[in-house]
Amino acid sequence: MKIKKQIDWPVALFLTLNPIVGLTLFFIYLYFFDTTVAMWVVFLVFAALTNLSITAGYHRLFAHRSYETNTFMKFWLLFFGSSAFQGPALKWASDHRRHHSHIDTTKDPYSIKKGFWYAHMGWLFYKDSVDLDIKAPDLEKDRLLQHQNKHYLLWSIGAGFVFPILIGLFFGAPLGGLIIFGSLRIFLTQQSTFFVNSLCHTLGEQTYSKEISARDSFIVAVLTHGEGYHNFHHQFQLDYRNGIKWYHWDPTKWMIQLMNLFGMAKKLKTIPAQEILKAKLNSEAKWLEAKGVSAEKLEDLKLKILETQIKIKKFKEEYAIIKRDWKNSSQERWNELQIQIAEMKLNIKNAKAEFKFALKEWQMYTQLATA
Ligand SMILES: [Zn+2]
Ligand SMILES: [Zn+2]
Repeated sequence: MKIKKQIDWPVALFLTLNPIVGLTLFFIYLYFFDTTVAMWVVFLVFAALTNLSITAGYHRLFAHRSYETNTFMKFWLLFFGSSAFQGPALKWASDHRRHHSHIDTTKDPYSIKKGFWYAHMGWLFYKDSVDLDIKAPDLEKDRLLQHQNKHYLLWSIGAGFVFPILIGLFFGAPLGGLIIFGSLRIFLTQQSTFFVNSLCHTLGEQTYSKEISARDSFIVAVLTHGEGYHNFHHQFQLDYRNGIKWYHWDPTKWMIQLMNLFGMAKKLKTIPAQEILKAKLNSEAKWLEAKGVSAEKLEDLKLKILETQIKIKKFKEEYAIIKRDWKNSSQERWNELQIQIAEMKLNIKNAKAEFKFALKEWQMYTQLATA
């Protein structure tokens, strides 16, 4: 006999009524009242702060503890995080940790295996996926998190609706504040977060592991403030970055780096480049072997790539030491060190060329296999 799932009415009603009532009121408001450019700028900033507090706060700080911060910043992230109406951080982080440890199984609270809609927001309609207990002993000790968890309605209504009305009052438009800075912002920012569980497990490349549904996609990264490099994130959840290259669209990473620059974030965790490249090559090797490429050949090439990468790192470190010595050196040693610097520069150049060449060869295999 199929057991009928119980609907979680308060959550289901909020998720349904907020967009329906909010959007209807929004269009009625636009018809009767004027809005200003300044109001829309504030809207964009508020929406960005809301999303970034979820991605940099709820997600990378609380759920993954990928960096540390001070109480002021924690409060700031919890305040704007509450304004997103995505539940208390403790519950959010606990559900998210379950998602990581049980990805693609029945124990994953928002498993993509149950369909796109279920992973997106469908799971929030049912008691058996919403009512999972909080399991995050490290976070449960935090007094600020405890407070937000215990008085969540106060935090969320205060930050999500009362605060927007106050901003609206500043523009002489409290109703506009409630509808635009409140309801519309909540609807849009919730959708951005929901895409992480649906689109991030549907669209893009499986760069580091083809065994999990998580994917890397620039488009999804734009929609989710950087969370779109999700295959990387599932493989290396401790890393405070999701987009590891400087050009990867990851505003959440940039925000954490900015916080770090101002001393507001410390102990930023990163996975060594060698480990990341190794995971990528291992995953591709498995796939290439299945396509008929010789395992032995792939292993040799993989070792060559990884060894050259280590060699470059070593040369760079040696170069930095010689350069430092050279700056403080006496006249007699100056020439000798100058030669060593030139030699080391050449070593780095050659190793980089070797690395590039080996990587090109590897890419040739992957291109051939894709064709
Ligand atoms: Zn995921
Ligand atoms: Zn995560």
